Amino acid sequence: MRPGKRVAVVGAGMGGLAAAIRLRLMGFEVDVFEKNGQIGGRVGRLEEAGFTFDTGPTLLLMTDVYRDLFREAGRNLDDEIDLMPLDPNYRVHFGDGDSIKVSSNLPTLIPELERVEPGVTPRFYRFMEDACLKYRLGRSEFVERDFEGAGDFFGPRNLRLLLKTKAVNNYYKSVSRFFRTDKLRQTFSFQTMYLGLSPSRRRRSTPSSPTPSSPRMGSGSRGGACTRSCLRWGGSRGTSGSGYT
Ligand SMILES: Cc1cc2nc3c(=O)[nH]c(=O)nc-3n(C[C@H](O)[C@H](O)[C@H](O)COP(=O)(O)OP(=O)(O)OC[C@H]3O[C@@H](n4cnc5c(N)ncnc54)[C@H](O)[C@@H]3O)c2cc1C
Repeated sequence: MRPGKRVAVVGAGMGGLAAAIRLRLMGFEVDVFEKNGQIGGRVGRLEEAGFTFDTGPTLLLMTDVYRDLFREAGRNLDDEIDLMPLDPNYRVHFGDGDSIKVSSNLPTLIPELERVEPGVTPRFYRFMEDACLKYRLGRSEFVERDFEGAGDFFGPRNLRLLLKTKAVNNYYKSVSRFFRTDKLRQTFSFQTMYLGLSPSRRRRSTPSSPTPSSPRMGSGSRGGACTRSCLRWGGSRGTSGSGYT
C-alpha cells in the first residue's frame, strides 16, 4: 500500500475501470467518479419495445488484453464472463442484394469467398499473412508502446514502421493487391471505418464518412465490448493476441 496516496479516476468506462483496478493493485487509494447512473461508458445496452441495441462496441477483439487485466487482479475472465463466439461474425450486404457471411472459421469462410471470387483462396492466405504482419507490428510498436511526446512518436523508427506497414497508404488499394472483385475488396477494407477513416483515402487526421458505395455490416451480435488502447498500461507486452468475436 502507498498510504496517503489517493488517485481520482474520472469516468467508469472500460478505460477508467481498467486504470482504477491497476492503480489499486499498485497500492493507491482510488476513487472513481462517473457522471452517469451506471458504469461501462460506451459499453452499454438499450432495451426498448422488445428490441436490444448495443450502444457501442459489438466486436470483442484482443481478449488477451482483458485476460491480462483479470489475471493481474487475481481473477479469471472465464469465471466472470461467458464469451460466446459468433458464427458468422457478421454479414456484409451489397447494393445488388448479395451478401457475404464473414466467419472466423476458415472451412466456413473459404467456400463463401470462393463463391464470390473463384480462385481467391491462395491470395486470401497471402492477405492474411500481410494483415498478420501489420497487426503484430502495429500492436507491439504503436498500441503497446509508451510515447513520451510528439517527438518520440514521430521519430525515425516510427516513420520507418509506418512506411513498412503502409499504414499511411490508401487501404482499399492495398487490399486490391489480393482481391480482384470489388465485393471482396470492400469486405476486407471497410473496417478502417471503425477508426473513423475511409478505406479509399490516404490517412488523414479528420474522420471521413462512409462513401455511398460502402457495404453495410449487419452484426448478429449478442453484445461484447473492447477498448483496445485504454485497457493497456505501461510498456510493451507480448503480441500473441487472437481475435474473438
Ligand atoms: C457505436 C460504437 C461502436 C463501437 N464498436 C466497437 C467494437 O466493436 N469493438 C471495440 O473494441 N470498440 C468499439 N467501440 C469503441 C469502444 O466503445 C470505446 O473505445 C471504449 O468503450 C472507450 O472506453 P473508454 O473507457 O475510454 O471511454 P467511454 O466508454 O466513453 O467512458 C468514459 C466514461 O467517462 C464518463 N465521464 C465523462 N466525463 C465525465 C466527467 N466529467 N465526470 C464523470 N464521468 C465522466 C462517461 O459518462 C463514461 O462513462 C465502439 C464505439 C462506438 C461509439
